[in-house]
This record gives sequence, structure tokens and C-alpha cells, in this order.
Amino acid sequence: MNILSDRINQLAESETLAMTRRSRELRAQGFDVINLSIGEPDFNTPEHVKTAAKLAIDQNYSHYPPVPGYPELRQAIANKLKRDNQLIYSPEQIVVSTGAKQSLANVILCLVNPGDEVLIPAPYWVSYKEIIKLAGAKGVFIEGKIDHDFKVTPEQVEGAITPNTKLFMFSSPCNPTGSVYSREELKAFAGVFERHPHVFIISDEIYEHINFVGHHESIAQFENVRNRVIIINGLSKGFAMTGWRLGYMAASPEIAKACDKLQGQITSGACSITQRAAIAAIETNPAESPDIKNMVEAFVYRRDLALALLKEIPGLRTNTPDGAFYLFPEVVKYYGKSFEGKVIHSATDLCDYLLDTAFVAIVPGVAFGSLDCIRISYATSENQLREAIRRIAEALAKLA
Ligand code: PMP
Ligand code: GLU
Repeated sequence: MNILSDRINQLAESETLAMTRRSRELRAQGFDVINLSIGEPDFNTPEHVKTAAKLAIDQNYSHYPPVPGYPELRQAIANKLKRDNQLIYSPEQIVVSTGAKQSLANVILCLVNPGDEVLIPAPYWVSYKEIIKLAGAKGVFIEGKIDHDFKVTPEQVEGAITPNTKLFMFSSPCNPTGSVYSREELKAFAGVFERHPHVFIISDEIYEHINFVGHHESIAQFENVRNRVIIINGLSKGFAMTGWRLGYMAASPEIAKACDKLQGQITSGACSITQRAAIAAIETNPAESPDIKNMVEAFVYRRDLALALLKEIPGLRTNTPDGAFYLFPEVVKYYGKSFEGKVIHSATDLCDYLLDTAFVAIVPGVAFGSLDCIRISYATSENQLREAIRRIAEALAKLA
């Protein structure tokens, strides 16, 4: 007898987390696995943020914090949006949560009804599709092609809008492709949404600081759509704080209030110690932060290194990502090839083969809505990256 709900039965496990779990299991059995599957900076949290957390413990920040976040943190986030993005939000428009993932779930559950359509450019981040499913809405996917840097065009977006469209959601810089939409491209999207006032826009900006081409641009800067944009952001990537679990959303007061209500019934406020540390992080001006500067420089170096090494492997096709810390090579040339009787039919087969024979963990593109590609996270040391790509090249060379 299946005791579980239809809701959970139809939900897929997060494939990024599943691959990481598998590589941890293999490691525990003594195998030398290199994990390029999880998207998390391999840097440590900045010292001044850790100090703020220690102080918060000593000052007994051990009680329930306000559900939408401490007022000082919400004010610090409002100040950040002004300082970094030239956007004016009041603290009442901001809700702090236990990670950007929770902020996304809050917003989706607050906005969509069963049957609503949610437009998502593909490739997309793994959890978008499943959270939408959980809300009973229908994902409508718009394909971005590798030749166009995996980006979708305003024409494609407009062509997919119907009277049932409730939301458009995307990340820039993008996970898994690293693509970054320019100001002009975002302006063109805003022009489309101006003509369709029933569509809301989730702008996932969690990779804001990991941008190799200049200043971060938010679609919220355009007045014609501004009150329909929900900004999602957090500390996981820019401040190397994945384990601390701190995200936030900024939107119209009505949507913020709804998220506050929902969160109050599910998790309450995010961890009090994390929130106090988050104030120190958010008050850091990224333009003056050596921590962020050094991390971004390291990512650019590794991106270039990984791209150069992957270019030497026959049959892979890769674009040049402008942000985040992922490469998304197309691997279709290997489909139909085999080694010792094992035939590679898909990117999933290829990832299984690479994990089993080369002990390198990579996520198949299907998790991100692409059957042709695999996602490689280069958020790891140069030595690990070189060794992982050497092993990948060796394993792929065995396929015939
Ligand atoms: N959005 C994107 C595009 C991500 O890649 C991730 C995961 N790193 C998240 C949201 C969730 O981040 P968090 O750790 O803040 O929950
Ligand atoms: N977002 C990261 C990734 O894409 C972390 C894993 C997850 O939360 O799914 O790998």
C-alpha cells in the first residue's frame, strides 16, 4: 500500500542533491570521488560575518525571531537594494527566509492557483519545475538554444503567453548555463510584460555577485513592470554561506505580506543567529569587498581553465558563460557509443558512466530541462578541476 500523498509521489528528488548524495556515499565507501555536481562556492564565509554570528550567540539571540526577519536585517536589505541596484524598497516589502529556495516556494505558493501556467526559459534551475508542480500549476518551457547562449528571445516569451499565464520565472546569471541577460535584453522582456499586465515575474538574482561581464542588472529597474517583479536573492552564493540558509524576497507589500503569512504557518522566521550574521554580510559593499572580488577572480580563472581543457575533448560543445560557476556542455556526440557493452543513450547514462568509471559527479541536463547537456560546477580547486577533467577525457575516450 502506498501511504504517501499524490503530491509527494509525483515530486522528483532534487537531482543536484541526489548526485551529491551519491558521491558522498561513494566517498564513504573509500572511493576518490570528485564532486562537480553541487552548486556551492568552495570558499569560507568571510571572517566579519562569522564574528557577527559568534557575537549573536553570546548576546543570546536564541528566541524566535520575527517571521519576516529582524527589522534591522530587512532595513539592511532595503539599503542593499538601493546601494547595489538603485532600487527603492521599504522593509515591509522584504521577507527573509531559510534560503532562496524557500523564498521561491513561498512566492509560488502565494501566487499560483492549480491550472495556472508558469513560463520558464529552459535550461532552468532544477527546483523551479518541482515547486510549480507542488503548487498544482503547469510549467510551460521556452527553449534557449546553445547557439544563442541558451537565452530566450522576447518573441519566444510573448508567443508563449496565454490568458492563463500567471508567472514568468528565470535566473540571471543563470543556473545551469551561466548566461547573463543584458540591460537591453531585460528591457525588451519588460516591454513584452507591459503588454500583458496579468503576468508576474520572478527574478532569481542569487548569482548577482558572480558576474564576469560587469554590473548586475535586475528587471525590477523597469518602471513599467516593477510592481509585478518579485526579486529573489540570498547569501548562499555571493557570501559563500550555503549552509547558513538565508534567502529573501522583495516585492509589492501585498505579495510580501502573503509570504509572511505562509512562512508563519510552515517554518517561522529564519535562524536567529544566521539573521544577525546576515546583517554583517548584507552591509558589506560588494564593490569594496576583497572576499567577493577574490572569489569572482578565482571563478573567472577556473572558468577559462575548464573551458580550455574541455575544448581539447572531442565531441563536446560549450558556450562561454558570463556568470555563476557552471559549464553546460552539449554531449550528444557520445549518444549511441558504448564501453564494455554499456551503451550511452542519454546524458543521464553518461553521468552514471562518469561517476562509476571516472569517479566524477556531474548532473545530467534533464534535471534542468535539457536532454543534450551536462552541468559541470567549477566551484572547486584548480587541482581538483584539472584532475576531474583529465578523468572525464580519459573515460570519454574509451567510448566507441
Ligand atoms: N536559485 C538558484 C538559481 C540556485 O542555483 C539556488 C541554489 N543554489 C537557489 C535558488 C537556492 O539557493 P539557497 O541556497 O539560498 O536556497
Ligand atoms: N542550487 C545548487 C545547485 O544547483 C545547490 C543544490 C540545490 O539546492 O539543489 O547545485
